Amino acid sequence: MSTREERAARAARRAGEFPPPPEPLAVPVFDSHTHLDITVQETGTTSVDGLIAQAAKVGVDRIVQVGVDVPSSRWSADLAARDDRVLATVALHPNDAPLLSDLDGALREIEAMAGQPRVRGVGETGLDMFRTGADGRKAQEESFRGHIEIAKRHGKALVIHDRDAHADILRVLDETGAPDAVVMHCFSGDGEFAAECVRRGFVLSFAGTVTFKSAAPLRVAAGVTPPEQMLVETDAPFLTPMPYRGRPNAPYLIPLTVRALAAATGAGVDALCAAISATGERVFGPW
Ligand SMILES: [Zn+2]
Repeated sequence: MSTREERAARAARRAGEFPPPPEPLAVPVFDSHTHLDITVQETGTTSVDGLIAQAAKVGVDRIVQVGVDVPSSRWSADLAARDDRVLATVALHPNDAPLLSDLDGALREIEAMAGQPRVRGVGETGLDMFRTGADGRKAQEESFRGHIEIAKRHGKALVIHDRDAHADILRVLDETGAPDAVVMHCFSGDGEFAAECVRRGFVLSFAGTVTFKSAAPLRVAAGVTPPEQMLVETDAPFLTPMPYRGRPNAPYLIPLTVRALAAATGAGVDALCAAISATGERVFGPW
């Protein structure tokens, strides 16, 4: 079997593993961070429009589509321009930035897109000490700083990827000055770091990881985050919430994570969805 056939077969298998749709939400909410392009590539059989429509059916009626390199950022901006349920963010992923031969040139392309009216965020950018080794860290931080400046120049939200880099993320933001809106995507800290981010006015976006059994500190973090500084995301096709961990993720699975967040914070699901939508409108919106 050729590589292409193998890939197609694997993708079809993954598509078949999509979890069943959860009970619809009574009050709509949005997915603050998703990769529809990667979800389609990874699963093969589902169309982008199908993923958006499937989410709307369970009350996830808006989406923020996140770019991770120049082509995916362009794809995200184009999708947002033609679909009023979708807003876009544009960036070079922190693990890719150190590998680029022309980082400055790529940042100029990101900046050109950041000015578009339906591009509302710059990210995901940030620091990743887990996957990028010591040799790539200088370029990674240079890229992060470049993205912070772009977000500030265009008045867009800064969407941060932080993996094992809490202290350095805060250090760079202290040195550069943070933009008005900062979103900690896939928040991964404990209660103490959450409180520090809240104090700084950042918005914490929780992913399916908050449903994992091992993630008690994350649920504590959610508990110290006020609803007006909280968002919910899939990071699809990754981080599928329980009880479907390991299967493909897509925006229609947001209800599982938002219900877990409501349980962790003691909020009602409907009130939490309304608060998250209001926060989304403030940070990224209006759609
Ligand atoms: Zn992401």
